Amino acid sequence: MTAVPGIPVLSWPALGRLHGPRPACVLDAGPAQLVTSGRCAIALALQAMAVGPGQRVLLPAFHSPAMVPPVLWRGATPVFYRVRADASVDLDDIASRLDGATRVLVVTHYFGFPQALPAIRAFCDAHGLLLLEDCAHSLFGEVAGRPLGSYGDAAIASTMKFYPQYEGGCLVLRRPLAPSPLRSAGIGFELKAVLAPLERALACGRLAPLGWLVAPLLALKQRLWRRVQRRSTAARALAPAASDHSYAFEPYWVDKRSALFSRLLLRVLSARRLCALRRRNYATLLQALQGAPGWRPLHAELPPGVYPWVLPLVLDDAERVHQYLLAAGAPMVRFGLESWPGMAADLCPNSAALGRRVLSLPCHQTLRQDELAWLAATLRAALEAP
Ligand SMILES: *Cc1c(COP(=O)(O)O)cnc(C)c1O
Repeated sequence: MTAVPGIPVLSWPALGRLHGPRPACVLDAGPAQLVTSGRCAIALALQAMAVGPGQRVLLPAFHSPAMVPPVLWRGATPVFYRVRADASVDLDDIASRLDGATRVLVVTHYFGFPQALPAIRAFCDAHGLLLLEDCAHSLFGEVAGRPLGSYGDAAIASTMKFYPQYEGGCLVLRRPLAPSPLRSAGIGFELKAVLAPLERALACGRLAPLGWLVAPLLALKQRLWRRVQRRSTAARALAPAASDHSYAFEPYWVDKRSALFSRLLLRVLSARRLCALRRRNYATLLQALQGAPGWRPLHAELPPGVYPWVLPLVLDDAERVHQYLLAAGAPMVRFGLESWPGMAADLCPNSAALGRRVLSLPCHQTLRQDELAWLAATLRAALEAP
C-alpha cells in the first residue's frame, strides 16, 4: 500500500460533520494566538510571564527535547522534576525542588490524557507558582467540566499534531498576562503552508482527483525550493525546524503568525469528527491487538472527554519491536526516548522507563480502516516474532 500516514493528512471526508456536541478545545480556554509551533508558544508564554535570567522553570523529566530551549532563550534555568510510573506529575518531588527563584511549573497531558489539574492548580496557588499547561498532546479534552488549558495561567498546544497542517501551534494567556503582537512570515511561507500538506496528501493516496491539478504546482515549487535552499537565509524563512521533525529552536519564528491556510484548516475541518475518530481508532487498534504477547496499554481506560494524540503501549521489548516496525515502514511515535542532554540520566527512573518501554501507534482521524488493520497486524507480527 502507499505510505500509511503517521500524522494527519488532508482528505475529503475530514470536511464532514459527525453527530454529537463539539468537544472542549484549548482554543476555547481563553483568547488564543495562532503561531507556527508549540515550542514558539512556550517561548511566548514565558515571555508574557516575564520569566528571565536568574529564574527557574520546572519541566517534567519525561519530556520532548523541544520544550527546553524556550526556557534557555529566556535566560532562565530549567529544573527537571519526576513523574510517577503512569506519567502523572509527582507533586512531592516538585515541592522538594522549590526555591525563591522558581517561577513557573510546566505540566504535560501526555498522549492526550489529562493530569490531575485541580490538585496541580491548588499546589501552584499555595506555592506562588505560575502554571503553564503543555497541551501539545491534548488539543481537545476537559477536566471537571472545563477545557484543558483553562487551569493554567497560560496554555500551549501544537495544532499540527492534530490537524493536517504544515505548521501550527497556539498560545492561550489568562489575565493579567498580555499577548505580544505577531508578524507575518511572508508570502513564501504562506505558499509552503498550502503546498506541503497537498503534497503529503497525494503521497499518501489522498485527494487523488486533485493530482493532475496540483502536480505542475508541486514541480514548480521543487524548482523554486532548490533555488531558495542555495540562499540559506531565505530557506530559513520558509521552513521552521519544528515542521521538519527537528527539536531545534529558532528565535526567528517565535513571533511569527501561523499561515492563513493553516488557520483556515482549523476552521473548516470538523473538530467533532476528528475527536470521535481518534477515540474510535484508539479502540479499534486496542481491540485488534487482543491476545498478542508482550504488551499492555499505558492507560487501562479511555475515559470520556479524552481525545488521544496516539495510542501509547508499554512493551516488554520496545527496541526490538521498534526495529521491526521501522523495517516494515509502519509509522510510530517514541515520545521521551530522547531527553534533554543537560538532564541527569538518573534523575527520574520512571521517565527513563517510560521513554524506553512506551511505543505509540498513530490513531489520528485520517487513518483508513485498511490502514488501521495493517498497522495492528504489523505490530502483532512484531510482537509474535521470535
Ligand atoms: C511536540 C511537543 C512540543 C512542541 O511542539 P512543536 O509544535 O513541535 O514545537 C511541546 N511539548 C510536547 C510534550 C510535545 O510533544
